[in-house]
Amino acid sequence: MIPVTKTFLPPLEEYQKQVKRAFDNGWLTNRGELVLELEALLKKYLETDNIIITNNGTIPLQIALKLLGNTGEIITTPFSYVATTAAIVWEGCTPVFVDIHPEYLTIDESKIEAAITHKTTAILATHVFGNPCNIEAIETIARKHHLKIIYDAAHCFGVKYNNQSVFNYGDVSTCSFHATKLFHTAEGGAMFTQDKELHHRLFYSHNFGHNTPLTFHGLGINGKISEVQAAMGLAVFPHIDTIISERRKIVEQYIELLDLSRFQSLKIREDAEWNYSYFPIIFKSEASLLKTEKLLHQNHIIPRRYFYPSLNNFEYTGGESMPIAESIASRILCLPLYYGLSTEEVKKIVNLINNSL
Ligand SMILES: *Cc1c(COP(=O)(O)O)cnc(C)c1O
Repeated sequence: MIPVTKTFLPPLEEYQKQVKRAFDNGWLTNRGELVLELEALLKKYLETDNIIITNNGTIPLQIALKLLGNTGEIITTPFSYVATTAAIVWEGCTPVFVDIHPEYLTIDESKIEAAITHKTTAILATHVFGNPCNIEAIETIARKHHLKIIYDAAHCFGVKYNNQSVFNYGDVSTCSFHATKLFHTAEGGAMFTQDKELHHRLFYSHNFGHNTPLTFHGLGINGKISEVQAAMGLAVFPHIDTIISERRKIVEQYIELLDLSRFQSLKIREDAEWNYSYFPIIFKSEASLLKTEKLLHQNHIIPRRYFYPSLNNFEYTGGESMPIAESIASRILCLPLYYGLSTEEVKKIVNLINNSL
């Protein structure tokens, strides 16, 4: 079976060596030595000023919304993983969808202003498949209308924009270290901000609001990651450059071998240094997607319809029509892409797809 992705597993001894440190310390959570070490390594690798590692990639969205969006209307994209919209609704805010750009697949900045009302407090946009949004345009709009910007950068480990980490943009950026993501801690995530005061608030918010064991800065929740998860991160980290370069090779093989005249592929934004996190192809129709998907399944190849469905179509999100996002969501298929996928397997996948239409 060839799945859409396979979690990168470091050699077991390397994980055991890291997790043994937690055993030796007798310390399993509450920002122990391993979490602090992982934060320091990632901060340097990602070239960011600030990072707070969390227990997943959803809680940072919720914390950011709680601090910046409060109960307002949040302008957001219908083309993302459900966590983006669910976090807005869960925090008691109202998602207001703006359709996406048909080639970059990120929120269409030219349609944002029309969606702003006196209740709008923030924009929550996703850098889709590691492809950055039009950051300059979004910043200009946010400044003009006094809105906060939160980027769901779950897919963006290692992505650069204008020669710096994409995590450095927005009031808050978030990342996911889920097992299916490029860099992982089994479950985990992170939040980033350039603003010292906001960093302080994000920090105490992810630890119940604690200042000292007996005093509190304010309201908080439990967003802490454990030492056991940090051990996984520390064991995966030394392999990250190899993981990215292997994925790059696979993406280049897909681009070379696939008959791309029959599909639309993801257009990466100029000025972005991409991380090869996903390889989606967009069919001309849902029918041809379904036909190809069936053939792949028959051959034990399991691509993923991602993102599907368009997020405006959930019963809890209102249901206003988003024609471009709905059309893309119905026609997009992410092909297998992971460290260890062989050239032979890529060729097999490509042959089936090229001959399926
Ligand atoms: C994976 C993902 C999330 C959620 O991250 P978790 O770590 O699974 O909580 C949020 N947004 C996007 C776009 C994602 O792909």
